[in-house]
Amino acid sequence: MNLILLGPPGAGKGTQAKMLIDAYGIPQISTGDMLREAVKNQTELGMEAKKYMDSGQLVPDEVVIGLAKDRIAQPDCDKGFMLDGFPRTVPQAEALDKVLDGMDKKIDHVISIEVPNSELLGRLTGRRTCKACGQGFHVMFDPPKQEGVCDKCGGELYQRDDDNETTVGNRLKVYEDQTAPLIDYYTNKGLLRPIDGVGSIEDIQTRIKAVLG
Ligand code: AMP
Repeated sequence: MNLILLGPPGAGKGTQAKMLIDAYGIPQISTGDMLREAVKNQTELGMEAKKYMDSGQLVPDEVVIGLAKDRIAQPDCDKGFMLDGFPRTVPQAEALDKVLDGMDKKIDHVISIEVPNSELLGRLTGRRTCKACGQGFHVMFDPPKQEGVCDKCGGELYQRDDDNETTVGNRLKVYEDQTAPLIDYYTNKGLLRPIDGVGSIEDIQTRIKAVLG
């Protein structure tokens, strides 16, 4: 099963994807995670991408298309994959269609997680992530037992550089302008599966599984 998780920043795509890995045994492909790894390792690509990421802008299409294409070609994607945060523009979606055509693969469902704008700012600025295991927390809605420490592995929690209020505002605008058109793109292909993204993490997971079967 080949999936795309679509939705604004803070909709919970990454959280839901991590739960779906266990349920369906398919890998999560997050271009955001891949770019952050490149930034951490100070690769040439990472240094170039950081300029865009820090201001909440999108990294150029050709860069992320290359990353996604190489990743989908890995053998662990043969049984399926979940794209999280890619595609984010219509040209990326068109490029993905071509890549998949060439591999004799296709997208089965586009899970579109819908959350009202008024909720997103608070969700994003309160997000914390474990440096060691990647587990996500939220200072208000899902706080760790001990501030700054991961419940799961004891690792140190950090706030993403782009989860501050100014950058979050830009990211939400970029979503509206450049990514929201994908809702029409995939509706027209009969692939869009809208999911109400308000509620507990478990409730939303149940709604997604109901669609996937
Ligand atoms: P995310 O973790 O998905 O929220 O992505 C964090 C940042 O990485 C975004 O704000 C962009 O700067 C960059 N990024 C991630 N995925 C893409 C993509 N598909 N296209 C362009 N930029 C991306």
